[in-house]
Amino acid sequence: MSDKDDDNTPFPDPDEISRKLSEFLKSNFGDQVSFSSMPDGMNPFANAPESSGETHDVKSEDPVDVFDFDLLPRDIKKHLDRFVIRQDEAKKALSIAVCDHYNHAKYLRRLEQESPEEAGKIEFAKQNVIVVGPTGVGKTYLVKHIAELIGVPFVKADATKFSETGYVGADVDDLVRELVRKADGDVSLAEYGIVYIDEIDKIATASNSSGRDVSGRGVQTTLLKLMEETEVPVRNPQDMQSQMQAMFEMSKGGKSGKDSINTRHILFIVSGAFSGLEKIVEKRVRQGAIGFSAESSAGIQETLLEELVETRDFIDFGFEAEFIGRLPVRVVCDHLDADDLFNIMKNSEGSLIRQYEREFEAFGIRAQFSDEALQEIATAAEKEKTGARGLMTVCERLLRNFKFELPGTSITELSVSGDLVKDPVATLDSILSDAGPVGDGRVIAEIAAFRRKFEESHGVRLNIRNDAAARIASLSEVKNQSILQVCEELFRDFQFGLNLIRKNTGQDTFLITEEAVENPDKYLSGLVVASYRSDEDSGVRSGDEPDQNPQ
Ligand code: ADP
Repeated sequence: MSDKDDDNTPFPDPDEISRKLSEFLKSNFGDQVSFSSMPDGMNPFANAPESSGETHDVKSEDPVDVFDFDLLPRDIKKHLDRFVIRQDEAKKALSIAVCDHYNHAKYLRRLEQESPEEAGKIEFAKQNVIVVGPTGVGKTYLVKHIAELIGVPFVKADATKFSETGYVGADVDDLVRELVRKADGDVSLAEYGIVYIDEIDKIATASNSSGRDVSGRGVQTTLLKLMEETEVPVRNPQDMQSQMQAMFEMSKGGKSGKDSINTRHILFIVSGAFSGLEKIVEKRVRQGAIGFSAESSAGIQETLLEELVETRDFIDFGFEAEFIGRLPVRVVCDHLDADDLFNIMKNSEGSLIRQYEREFEAFGIRAQFSDEALQEIATAAEKEKTGARGLMTVCERLLRNFKFELPGTSITELSVSGDLVKDPVATLDSILSDAGPVGDGRVIAEIAAFRRKFEESHGVRLNIRNDAAARIASLSEVKNQSILQVCEELFRDFQFGLNLIRKNTGQDTFLITEEAVENPDKYLSGLVVASYRSDEDSGVRSGDEPDQNPQ
Protein backbone atom coordinates (compact mmCIF):
# COMPACT_ATOMS: atom_id res chain seq x y z
CA MET A 1 0.00 0.00 0.00
CA SER A 2 1.16 3.55 -0.61
CA ASP A 3 2.18 6.01 2.03
CA LYS A 4 -0.90 8.07 1.37
CA ASP A 5 -2.34 7.38 4.79
CA ASP A 6 0.60 9.20 6.26
CA ASP A 7 -1.47 12.34 6.42
CA ASN A 8 -3.59 10.63 9.09
CA THR A 9 -2.26 10.07 12.56
CA PRO A 10 -0.04 7.01 12.26
CA PHE A 11 -1.57 3.82 13.62
CA PRO A 12 0.15 3.04 16.92
CA ASP A 13 2.09 -0.17 17.11
CA PRO A 14 0.68 -3.13 19.12
CA ASP A 15 3.16 -2.71 21.95
CA GLU A 16 2.06 0.84 22.45
CA ILE A 17 -1.63 -0.12 22.39
CA SER A 18 -0.88 -2.93 24.78
CA ARG A 19 0.89 -0.58 27.19
CA LYS A 20 -1.90 2.00 27.04
CA LEU A 21 -4.55 -0.65 27.62
CA SER A 22 -2.63 -2.09 30.56
CA GLU A 23 -2.45 1.33 32.12
CA PHE A 24 -6.13 1.89 31.48
CA LEU A 25 -7.14 -1.45 33.01
CA LYS A 26 -4.90 -0.97 35.97
CA SER A 27 -6.19 2.50 36.75
CA ASN A 28 -9.82 1.31 36.52
CA PHE A 29 -9.65 -2.14 38.02
CA GLY A 30 -6.39 -2.28 39.97
CA ASP A 31 -4.55 -5.60 39.91
CA GLN A 32 -7.70 -7.65 39.48
CA VAL A 33 -7.60 -7.45 35.74
CA SER A 34 -4.48 -7.67 33.70
CA PHE A 35 -3.78 -7.36 30.06
CA SER A 36 -1.34 -10.07 29.16
CA SER A 37 0.76 -9.99 26.06
CA MET A 38 0.48 -12.80 23.63
CA PRO A 39 2.70 -15.63 24.80
CA ASP A 40 5.82 -16.27 22.78
CA GLY A 41 5.05 -18.25 19.74
CA MET A 42 1.34 -17.48 19.76
CA ASN A 43 1.81 -14.66 17.33
CA PRO A 44 -0.48 -15.51 14.46
CA PHE A 45 1.68 -13.36 12.25
CA ALA A 46 4.68 -15.52 12.71
CA ASN A 47 5.72 -14.76 9.17
CA ALA A 48 6.06 -11.12 9.99
CA PRO A 49 9.69 -10.06 9.98
CA GLU A 50 9.67 -8.97 13.61
CA SER A 51 9.05 -12.48 14.88
CA SER A 52 12.08 -14.68 14.87
CA GLY A 53 14.28 -16.89 16.93
CA GLU A 54 11.66 -19.36 18.07
CA THR A 55 11.91 -23.09 17.79
CA HIS A 56 9.21 -24.62 15.71
CA ASP A 57 8.31 -28.18 15.01
CA VAL A 58 8.42 -27.66 11.30
CA LYS A 59 11.46 -25.63 10.40
CA SER A 60 10.95 -23.06 7.73
CA GLU A 61 14.41 -23.64 6.29
CA ASP A 62 13.51 -27.25 5.76
CA PRO A 63 9.96 -27.19 4.46
CA VAL A 64 8.45 -30.39 3.22
CA ASP A 65 5.88 -29.86 0.56
CA VAL A 66 3.05 -32.24 1.34
CA PHE A 67 2.23 -32.18 -2.33
CA ASP A 68 5.49 -33.90 -3.08
CA PHE A 69 4.33 -36.76 -0.89
CA ASP A 70 5.42 -39.99 -2.53
CA LEU A 71 5.95 -42.38 0.35
CA LEU A 72 4.66 -45.92 0.29
CA PRO A 73 3.10 -47.56 3.32
CA ARG A 74 6.13 -49.82 3.58
CA ASP A 75 8.44 -46.76 3.69
CA ILE A 76 6.53 -45.32 6.61
CA LYS A 77 6.48 -48.61 8.46
CA LYS A 78 10.20 -49.05 7.92
CA HIS A 79 10.81 -45.63 9.41
CA LEU A 80 8.61 -46.43 12.39
CA ASP A 81 10.39 -49.77 12.91
CA ARG A 82 13.54 -47.84 13.73
CA PHE A 83 11.95 -46.28 16.78
CA VAL A 84 8.85 -48.19 17.76
CA ILE A 85 9.15 -51.76 18.95
CA ARG A 86 6.26 -54.09 18.24
CA GLN A 87 2.83 -52.60 17.31
CA ASP A 88 3.14 -54.05 13.80
CA GLU A 89 -0.55 -53.92 12.97
CA ALA A 90 -0.82 -50.38 14.24
CA LYS A 91 2.18 -49.38 12.16
CA LYS A 92 0.66 -50.91 9.05
CA ALA A 93 -2.78 -49.41 9.53
CA LEU A 94 -1.38 -45.99 10.31
CA SER A 95 1.02 -46.10 7.37
CA ILE A 96 -1.81 -46.90 4.98
CA ALA A 97 -4.13 -44.28 6.46
CA VAL A 98 -1.43 -41.64 6.21
CA CYS A 99 -0.58 -42.53 2.60
CA ASP A 100 -4.26 -42.46 1.59
CA HIS A 101 -4.75 -39.17 3.33
CA TYR A 102 -1.83 -37.33 1.79
CA ASN A 103 -2.16 -38.93 -1.63
CA HIS A 104 -5.74 -37.72 -1.72
CA ALA A 105 -4.67 -34.24 -0.68
CA LYS A 106 -2.10 -34.24 -3.46
CA TYR A 107 -4.62 -35.48 -6.03
CA LEU A 108 -7.20 -32.93 -5.02
CA ARG A 109 -4.72 -30.12 -5.14
CA ARG A 110 -3.78 -31.03 -8.71
CA LEU A 111 -7.40 -31.32 -9.71
CA GLU A 112 -8.23 -27.97 -8.13
CA GLN A 113 -5.61 -26.38 -10.34
CA GLU A 114 -6.73 -28.19 -13.49
CA SER A 115 -10.47 -28.28 -13.04
CA PRO A 116 -11.96 -26.68 -9.95
CA GLU A 117 -15.53 -27.89 -10.74
CA GLU A 118 -14.39 -31.48 -10.93
CA ALA A 119 -12.46 -31.10 -7.70
CA GLY A 120 -15.59 -29.83 -6.00
CA LYS A 121 -17.45 -33.01 -6.91
CA ILE A 122 -14.91 -35.44 -5.50
CA GLU A 123 -16.11 -37.34 -2.47
CA PHE A 124 -13.63 -38.62 0.02
CA ALA A 125 -14.01 -40.35 3.36
CA LYS A 126 -11.23 -39.05 5.53
CA GLN A 127 -9.06 -41.73 7.08
CA ASN A 128 -9.20 -40.48 10.64
CA VAL A 129 -7.87 -43.07 13.05
CA ILE A 130 -8.87 -44.39 16.44
CA VAL A 131 -6.10 -46.12 18.37
CA VAL A 132 -7.00 -48.43 21.23
CA GLY A 133 -4.25 -49.31 23.65
CA PRO A 134 -3.01 -49.02 27.21
CA THR A 135 -0.76 -46.23 28.38
CA GLY A 136 2.91 -46.06 27.46
CA VAL A 137 2.90 -48.52 24.56
CA GLY A 138 3.91 -46.06 21.85
CA LYS A 139 0.68 -44.50 20.59
CA THR A 140 1.92 -40.92 20.76
CA TYR A 141 5.37 -42.01 19.74
CA LEU A 142 4.01 -43.53 16.51
CA VAL A 143 2.07 -40.43 15.55
CA LYS A 144 4.94 -38.09 16.41
CA HIS A 145 7.35 -40.01 14.21
CA ILE A 146 4.89 -40.12 11.32
CA ALA A 147 4.42 -36.34 11.48
CA GLU A 148 8.18 -35.85 11.63
CA LEU A 149 8.75 -38.08 8.64
CA ILE A 150 6.19 -36.32 6.49
CA GLY A 151 7.14 -32.87 7.71
CA VAL A 152 3.70 -31.74 8.81
CA PRO A 153 2.93 -30.04 12.11
CA PHE A 154 1.60 -32.22 14.89
CA VAL A 155 -0.44 -31.26 17.93
CA LYS A 156 -1.38 -33.44 20.89
CA ALA A 157 -4.10 -32.77 23.44
CA ASP A 158 -6.01 -34.69 26.06
CA ALA A 159 -9.74 -35.03 25.54
CA THR A 160 -10.19 -34.62 29.30
CA LYS A 161 -9.19 -30.98 28.93
CA PHE A 162 -12.15 -30.21 26.73
CA SER A 163 -15.53 -29.18 27.87
CA GLU A 164 -18.50 -28.29 25.79
CA THR A 165 -17.76 -24.64 26.13
CA GLY A 166 -14.06 -24.62 26.01
CA TYR A 167 -10.66 -26.17 26.14
CA VAL A 168 -8.41 -24.94 28.94
CA GLY A 169 -10.14 -21.64 29.05
CA ALA A 170 -10.24 -21.13 25.32
CA ASP A 171 -11.94 -23.40 22.82
CA VAL A 172 -11.39 -26.51 20.77
CA ASP A 173 -10.44 -24.39 17.77
CA ASP A 174 -7.24 -23.53 19.61
CA LEU A 175 -6.04 -27.02 18.72
CA VAL A 176 -6.13 -26.10 15.07
CA ARG A 177 -4.58 -22.69 15.70
CA GLU A 178 -1.80 -24.46 17.55
CA LEU A 179 -1.03 -26.29 14.30
CA VAL A 180 -0.41 -22.92 12.67
CA ARG A 181 2.00 -22.02 15.43
CA LYS A 182 3.81 -25.33 15.01
CA ALA A 183 3.96 -24.67 11.26
CA ASP A 184 5.77 -21.43 11.91
CA GLY A 185 2.73 -19.39 10.94
CA ASP A 186 2.23 -21.21 7.67
CA VAL A 187 -1.54 -21.68 7.48
CA SER A 188 -1.39 -23.71 4.27
CA LEU A 189 0.93 -26.24 5.87
CA ALA A 190 -1.15 -26.31 9.06
CA GLU A 191 -4.14 -27.30 6.95
CA TYR A 192 -2.36 -30.61 6.32
CA GLY A 193 -1.25 -31.20 9.89
CA ILE A 194 -2.06 -33.99 12.31
CA VAL A 195 -4.15 -33.50 15.44
CA TYR A 196 -3.79 -36.23 18.03
CA ILE A 197 -6.29 -36.43 20.89
CA ASP A 198 -5.56 -38.86 23.70
CA GLU A 199 -7.93 -40.13 26.40
CA ILE A 200 -10.83 -39.96 23.99
CA ASP A 201 -12.51 -42.77 25.95
CA LYS A 202 -13.07 -40.25 28.73
CA ILE A 203 -15.66 -38.40 26.67
CA ALA A 204 -17.78 -41.50 26.19
CA THR A 205 -21.24 -41.00 27.63
CA ALA A 206 -22.85 -44.39 28.21
CA SER A 207 -23.57 -45.33 31.78
CA ASN A 208 -21.29 -48.34 31.53
CA SER A 209 -18.26 -46.14 30.99
CA SER A 210 -16.56 -43.89 33.47
CA GLY A 211 -16.84 -40.88 31.14
CA ARG A 212 -18.58 -37.65 32.02
CA ASP A 213 -22.09 -37.99 30.82
CA VAL A 214 -23.46 -34.63 29.95
CA SER A 215 -20.51 -32.74 28.60
CA GLY A 216 -19.10 -35.78 26.79
CA ARG A 217 -21.76 -35.65 24.12
CA GLY A 218 -21.24 -31.93 23.59
CA VAL A 219 -17.51 -32.40 23.20
CA GLN A 220 -18.07 -35.17 20.70
CA THR A 221 -20.26 -32.85 18.65
CA THR A 222 -17.68 -30.08 18.74
CA LEU A 223 -14.91 -32.42 17.69
CA LEU A 224 -17.10 -33.91 15.02
CA LYS A 225 -17.40 -30.55 13.34
CA LEU A 226 -13.66 -30.16 13.39
CA MET A 227 -13.05 -33.63 12.02
CA GLU A 228 -15.42 -33.12 9.12
CA GLU A 229 -14.77 -29.75 7.62
CA THR A 230 -14.94 -26.33 9.12
CA GLU A 231 -13.21 -23.00 8.96
CA VAL A 232 -11.35 -21.96 12.09
CA PRO A 233 -10.35 -18.29 12.36
CA VAL A 234 -6.60 -17.91 12.52
CA ARG A 235 -7.06 -15.35 15.26
CA ASN A 236 -8.95 -16.25 18.36
CA PRO A 237 -11.94 -13.87 18.42
CA GLN A 238 -11.59 -13.68 22.21
CA ASP A 239 -7.95 -12.68 22.06
CA MET A 240 -7.93 -8.91 22.12
CA GLN A 241 -4.28 -8.47 21.34
CA SER A 242 -4.43 -10.86 18.44
CA GLN A 243 -7.31 -8.85 17.01
CA MET A 244 -5.33 -5.68 17.45
CA GLN A 245 -2.41 -7.24 15.67
CA ALA A 246 -4.77 -7.88 12.79
CA MET A 247 -5.91 -4.24 12.77
CA PHE A 248 -2.34 -3.14 12.87
CA GLU A 249 -1.42 -5.33 9.93
CA MET A 250 -4.41 -4.06 8.00
CA SER A 251 -3.42 -0.47 8.62
CA LYS A 252 0.07 -1.28 7.43
CA GLY A 253 -1.20 -2.44 4.10
CA GLY A 254 -3.56 -5.35 4.48
CA LYS A 255 -1.56 -8.47 5.08
CA SER A 256 -2.56 -10.96 2.44
CA GLY A 257 -2.34 -14.11 4.57
CA LYS A 258 -5.28 -16.48 5.05
CA ASP A 259 -7.45 -15.55 7.97
CA SER A 260 -9.04 -18.95 8.50
CA ILE A 261 -7.87 -22.52 8.59
CA ASN A 262 -9.84 -25.15 6.74
CA THR A 263 -9.84 -28.48 8.57
CA ARG A 264 -10.76 -30.65 5.58
CA HIS A 265 -7.26 -32.09 5.18
CA ILE A 266 -6.23 -32.19 8.80
CA LEU A 267 -5.76 -35.78 9.88
CA PHE A 268 -7.30 -36.62 13.24
CA ILE A 269 -5.98 -39.47 15.31
CA VAL A 270 -7.70 -40.21 18.61
CA SER A 271 -6.72 -42.77 21.20
CA GLY A 272 -7.55 -44.19 24.56
CA ALA A 273 -7.21 -47.24 26.77
CA PHE A 274 -10.94 -48.11 26.37
CA SER A 275 -10.96 -50.40 29.35
CA GLY A 276 -14.09 -52.50 29.20
CA LEU A 277 -14.27 -52.47 25.41
CA GLU A 278 -13.14 -56.11 25.20
CA LYS A 279 -16.04 -57.08 27.45
CA ILE A 280 -18.51 -55.32 25.17
CA VAL A 281 -17.05 -57.00 22.10
CA GLU A 282 -16.95 -60.36 23.84
CA LYS A 283 -20.56 -60.11 24.95
CA ARG A 284 -21.71 -59.30 21.45
CA VAL A 285 -19.62 -62.02 19.86
CA ARG A 286 -20.78 -64.62 22.40
CA GLN A 287 -24.37 -63.78 21.70
CA GLY A 288 -23.82 -64.11 17.98
CA ALA A 289 -21.58 -67.15 17.70
CA ILE A 290 -21.99 -70.27 19.75
CA GLY A 291 -18.62 -71.75 18.84
CA PHE A 292 -16.81 -68.71 20.11
CA SER A 293 -17.82 -68.81 23.73
CA ALA A 294 -15.94 -71.97 24.65
CA GLU A 295 -12.66 -70.77 23.15
CA SER A 296 -12.69 -67.32 24.56
CA SER A 297 -13.39 -67.88 28.20
CA ALA A 298 -10.12 -66.14 29.02
CA GLY A 299 -11.37 -62.98 27.35
CA ILE A 300 -10.59 -61.36 24.07
CA GLN A 301 -6.95 -60.83 23.29
CA GLU A 302 -5.61 -57.71 21.66
CA THR A 303 -5.02 -59.44 18.34
CA LEU A 304 -8.62 -60.60 18.26
CA LEU A 305 -9.97 -57.28 19.44
CA GLU A 306 -8.58 -55.58 16.36
CA GLU A 307 -10.39 -58.03 14.11
CA LEU A 308 -13.61 -58.14 16.03
CA VAL A 309 -14.29 -54.62 17.18
CA GLU A 310 -17.15 -52.97 15.32
CA THR A 311 -18.70 -49.54 15.21
CA ARG A 312 -21.58 -50.65 17.42
CA ASP A 313 -19.14 -51.71 20.16
CA PHE A 314 -17.85 -48.14 20.31
CA ILE A 315 -21.43 -46.91 20.37
CA ASP A 316 -22.17 -49.25 23.26
CA PHE A 317 -19.08 -47.89 24.92
CA GLY A 318 -20.63 -44.44 24.82
CA PHE A 319 -19.86 -42.74 21.54
CA GLU A 320 -22.28 -41.05 19.22
CA ALA A 321 -22.67 -42.96 15.95
CA GLU A 322 -21.78 -39.86 13.92
CA PHE A 323 -18.63 -39.34 15.93
CA ILE A 324 -17.31 -42.86 15.66
CA GLY A 325 -18.36 -42.92 12.02
CA ARG A 326 -15.78 -40.21 11.31
CA LEU A 327 -13.06 -42.49 12.61
CA PRO A 328 -13.03 -45.34 10.11
CA VAL A 329 -9.52 -46.67 10.77
CA ARG A 330 -9.38 -48.77 13.95
CA VAL A 331 -6.05 -49.78 15.37
CA VAL A 332 -5.16 -51.75 18.48
CA CYS A 333 -1.79 -51.37 20.19
CA ASP A 334 -0.48 -54.32 22.17
CA HIS A 335 0.65 -54.48 25.76
CA LEU A 336 4.40 -54.50 26.08
CA ASP A 337 5.91 -57.40 28.04
CA ALA A 338 9.38 -57.59 29.58
CA ASP A 339 10.92 -58.86 26.32
CA ASP A 340 9.49 -55.89 24.42
CA LEU A 341 10.80 -53.50 27.05
CA PHE A 342 14.23 -55.10 26.79
CA ASN A 343 14.04 -54.67 23.03
CA ILE A 344 13.10 -51.02 23.38
CA MET A 345 16.20 -50.35 25.46
CA LYS A 346 18.47 -52.44 23.28
CA ASN A 347 17.24 -51.68 19.77
CA SER A 348 15.04 -48.61 19.54
CA GLU A 349 16.85 -45.59 18.14
CA GLY A 350 15.14 -43.47 20.76
CA SER A 351 16.24 -45.75 23.60
CA LEU A 352 16.27 -44.29 27.05
CA ILE A 353 19.60 -46.00 27.64
CA ARG A 354 21.32 -43.72 25.10
CA GLN A 355 19.99 -40.81 27.12
CA TYR A 356 21.45 -42.20 30.33
CA GLU A 357 24.78 -42.83 28.62
CA ARG A 358 24.84 -39.21 27.47
CA GLU A 359 23.92 -37.94 30.90
CA PHE A 360 26.74 -39.85 32.59
CA GLU A 361 29.09 -38.88 29.78
CA ALA A 362 28.47 -35.23 30.60
CA PHE A 363 30.06 -35.95 33.98
CA GLY A 364 32.98 -37.71 32.32
CA ILE A 365 31.66 -41.16 33.19
CA ARG A 366 31.26 -43.83 30.57
CA ALA A 367 28.24 -45.94 31.51
CA GLN A 368 27.79 -49.32 29.91
CA PHE A 369 24.67 -51.42 30.37
CA SER A 370 24.97 -55.20 30.17
CA ASP A 371 22.17 -57.28 28.66
CA GLU A 372 21.59 -58.88 32.02
CA ALA A 373 21.05 -55.45 33.55
CA LEU A 374 18.64 -54.50 30.78
CA GLN A 375 16.69 -57.70 31.40
CA GLU A 376 16.44 -56.96 35.10
CA ILE A 377 15.31 -53.40 34.39
CA ALA A 378 12.72 -54.64 31.89
CA THR A 379 11.31 -57.14 34.38
CA ALA A 380 10.98 -54.47 37.05
CA ALA A 381 9.47 -51.99 34.56
CA GLU A 382 6.82 -54.48 33.44
CA LYS A 383 5.53 -54.61 37.02
CA GLU A 384 4.89 -50.87 36.92
CA LYS A 385 2.14 -51.53 34.36
CA THR A 386 2.77 -48.24 32.59
CA GLY A 387 4.29 -49.68 29.43
CA ALA A 388 7.61 -48.20 28.36
CA ARG A 389 7.11 -45.35 30.79
CA GLY A 390 7.93 -47.87 33.52
CA LEU A 391 11.49 -47.98 32.15
CA MET A 392 12.00 -44.38 33.02
CA THR A 393 10.63 -44.88 36.53
CA VAL A 394 12.84 -47.88 37.18
CA CYS A 395 16.01 -46.36 35.72
CA GLU A 396 15.51 -43.13 37.57
CA ARG A 397 15.04 -44.95 40.87
CA LEU A 398 17.96 -47.25 40.18
CA LEU A 399 20.51 -44.73 39.03
CA ARG A 400 19.65 -41.61 40.98
CA ASN A 401 22.24 -42.21 43.69
CA PHE A 402 24.87 -43.17 41.14
CA LYS A 403 24.24 -39.92 39.29
CA PHE A 404 24.56 -38.01 42.52
CA GLU A 405 27.55 -39.75 44.08
CA LEU A 406 29.83 -40.56 41.15
CA PRO A 407 30.27 -37.21 39.40
CA GLY A 408 33.24 -35.44 40.86
CA THR A 409 34.99 -38.65 41.94
CA SER A 410 37.79 -40.39 40.09
CA ILE A 411 35.31 -42.85 38.57
CA THR A 412 35.25 -42.63 34.79
CA GLU A 413 33.59 -45.95 34.00
CA LEU A 414 30.33 -47.35 35.29
CA SER A 415 29.39 -50.87 34.43
CA VAL A 416 25.65 -51.24 34.90
CA SER A 417 25.53 -54.98 35.45
CA GLY A 418 22.86 -57.41 36.55
CA ASP A 419 24.38 -57.33 40.04
CA LEU A 420 24.16 -53.58 40.16
CA VAL A 421 20.45 -53.71 39.30
CA LYS A 422 19.83 -56.44 41.87
CA ASP A 423 21.71 -54.67 44.65
CA PRO A 424 22.36 -51.04 43.78
CA VAL A 425 23.17 -49.95 47.33
CA ALA A 426 25.96 -52.47 47.86
CA THR A 427 27.33 -51.89 44.37
CA LEU A 428 27.47 -48.14 44.85
CA ASP A 429 29.19 -48.57 48.21
CA SER A 430 31.80 -50.78 46.70
CA ILE A 431 32.39 -48.45 43.74
CA LEU A 432 32.73 -45.49 46.08
CA SER A 433 35.17 -47.29 48.34
CA ASP A 434 37.44 -47.81 45.31
CA ALA A 435 37.02 -44.27 44.06
CA GLY A 436 39.77 -41.74 44.42
CA PRO A 437 39.34 -38.44 46.16
CA VAL A 438 36.58 -36.19 44.99
CA GLY A 439 37.84 -34.13 42.10
CA ASP A 440 36.93 -30.70 40.94
CA GLY A 441 33.51 -30.92 39.29
CA ARG A 442 34.24 -28.04 36.96
CA VAL A 443 37.43 -29.67 35.66
CA ILE A 444 35.64 -32.96 35.09
CA ALA A 445 32.75 -31.34 33.28
CA GLU A 446 35.06 -29.26 31.06
CA ILE A 447 37.19 -32.25 30.20
CA ALA A 448 34.04 -34.20 29.36
CA ALA A 449 32.95 -31.35 27.10
CA PHE A 450 36.30 -31.37 25.32
CA ARG A 451 36.16 -35.14 24.84
CA ARG A 452 32.67 -34.88 23.37
CA LYS A 453 33.72 -32.14 21.01
CA PHE A 454 36.82 -34.05 19.94
CA GLU A 455 34.81 -37.19 19.26
CA GLU A 456 32.16 -35.32 17.31
CA SER A 457 34.71 -33.50 15.18
CA HIS A 458 37.18 -36.30 14.57
CA GLY A 459 35.35 -39.57 15.12
CA VAL A 460 37.81 -40.87 17.73
CA ARG A 461 37.36 -40.98 21.45
CA LEU A 462 39.85 -39.85 24.08
CA ASN A 463 39.81 -41.42 27.52
CA ILE A 464 41.50 -38.94 29.80
CA ARG A 465 42.87 -40.70 32.87
CA ASN A 466 42.69 -39.03 36.26
CA ASP A 467 46.38 -38.30 36.49
CA ALA A 468 46.18 -36.63 33.08
CA ALA A 469 43.15 -34.62 34.16
CA ALA A 470 45.03 -33.41 37.23
CA ARG A 471 47.97 -32.28 35.05
CA ILE A 472 45.61 -30.50 32.68
CA ALA A 473 43.97 -28.72 35.62
CA SER A 474 47.31 -27.49 36.95
CA LEU A 475 48.41 -26.36 33.47
CA SER A 476 45.19 -24.42 33.21
CA GLU A 477 46.02 -22.62 36.44
CA VAL A 478 49.62 -21.93 35.56
CA LYS A 479 48.83 -20.67 32.08
CA ASN A 480 45.67 -18.92 33.18
CA GLN A 481 43.76 -20.61 30.40
CA SER A 482 40.51 -22.55 30.47
CA ILE A 483 40.61 -26.34 30.56
CA LEU A 484 39.22 -26.35 27.04
CA GLN A 485 41.98 -24.07 25.77
CA VAL A 486 44.65 -26.23 27.39
CA CYS A 487 43.19 -29.40 25.91
CA GLU A 488 42.81 -27.89 22.48
CA GLU A 489 46.39 -26.75 22.52
CA LEU A 490 47.80 -30.00 23.84
CA PHE A 491 45.92 -32.24 21.47
CA ARG A 492 45.71 -29.87 18.53
CA ASP A 493 46.94 -32.26 15.85
CA PHE A 494 46.08 -35.52 17.52
CA GLN A 495 43.26 -36.30 15.13
CA PHE A 496 45.62 -36.96 12.22
CA GLY A 497 47.77 -39.50 14.06
CA LEU A 498 44.84 -41.12 15.83
CA ASN A 499 42.85 -41.52 12.66
CA LEU A 500 45.87 -43.08 11.02
CA ILE A 501 46.01 -45.60 13.85
CA ARG A 502 42.31 -46.22 13.49
CA LYS A 503 42.87 -47.04 9.84
CA ASN A 504 45.69 -49.41 10.73
CA THR A 505 44.13 -51.19 13.67
CA GLY A 506 40.45 -50.27 13.93
CA GLN A 507 41.08 -48.81 17.38
CA ASP A 508 38.90 -45.79 18.03
CA THR A 509 39.40 -45.09 21.72
CA PHE A 510 42.69 -43.77 23.08
CA LEU A 511 43.90 -43.39 26.59
CA ILE A 512 45.44 -40.07 27.58
CA THR A 513 47.88 -40.45 30.45
CA GLU A 514 49.93 -37.99 32.43
CA GLU A 515 52.86 -38.68 30.07
CA ALA A 516 50.65 -37.75 27.13
CA VAL A 517 49.98 -34.38 28.72
CA GLU A 518 53.63 -33.81 29.50
CA ASN A 519 54.85 -34.61 26.04
CA PRO A 520 51.98 -34.95 23.58
CA ASP A 521 54.13 -35.22 20.42
CA LYS A 522 56.27 -37.99 21.78
CA TYR A 523 53.23 -39.80 23.07
CA LEU A 524 51.39 -39.61 19.78
CA SER A 525 54.32 -40.72 17.67
CA GLY A 526 54.81 -43.66 20.06
CA LEU A 527 51.23 -44.70 19.42
CA VAL A 528 51.54 -44.33 15.66
CA VAL A 529 54.73 -46.37 15.50
CA ALA A 530 53.22 -49.05 17.69
CA SER A 531 50.18 -49.29 15.43
CA TYR A 532 52.41 -50.47 12.60
CA ARG A 533 53.69 -53.37 14.68
CA SER A 534 51.96 -56.69 14.83
CA ASP A 535 48.86 -57.09 16.96
CA GLU A 536 50.60 -59.02 19.70
CA ASP A 537 53.30 -56.56 20.59
CA SER A 538 51.62 -53.30 19.69
CA GLY A 539 50.88 -52.38 23.30
CA VAL A 540 48.21 -49.88 22.23
CA ARG A 541 45.25 -52.15 21.94
CA SER A 542 42.64 -50.37 23.84
CA GLY A 543 42.24 -46.94 25.26
CA ASP A 544 40.16 -48.48 28.01
CA GLU A 545 43.00 -50.41 29.56
CA PRO A 546 45.53 -48.25 31.31
CA ASP A 547 47.92 -51.15 31.93
CA GLN A 548 48.51 -51.57 28.24
CA ASN A 549 49.43 -48.02 27.70
CA PRO A 550 52.89 -47.42 26.15
CA GLN A 551 55.52 -45.65 28.16
P1 ADP B 1 1.24 -43.68 24.91
O1 ADP B 1 0.92 -45.02 24.31
O2 ADP B 1 0.65 -43.52 26.26
O3 ADP B 1 0.94 -42.56 23.96
P2 ADP B 1 3.95 -42.90 24.45
O4 ADP B 1 3.95 -43.12 22.99
O5 ADP B 1 3.87 -41.48 24.89
O6 ADP B 1 2.80 -43.71 25.16
O7 ADP B 1 5.23 -43.59 25.12
C1 ADP B 1 6.04 -42.97 26.11
C2 ADP B 1 7.51 -43.19 25.76
O8 ADP B 1 7.83 -44.57 25.91
C3 ADP B 1 7.84 -42.84 24.33
O9 ADP B 1 8.27 -41.52 24.23
C4 ADP B 1 8.95 -43.80 23.99
O10 ADP B 1 10.19 -43.31 24.43
C5 ADP B 1 8.63 -45.03 24.82
N1 ADP B 1 7.88 -46.06 24.10
C6 ADP B 1 6.58 -46.39 24.29
N2 ADP B 1 6.21 -47.41 23.51
C7 ADP B 1 7.28 -47.73 22.76
C8 ADP B 1 7.52 -48.71 21.75
N3 ADP B 1 6.56 -49.56 21.38
N4 ADP B 1 8.75 -48.75 21.21
C9 ADP B 1 9.72 -47.90 21.60
N5 ADP B 1 9.57 -46.96 22.56
C10 ADP B 1 8.36 -46.87 23.14
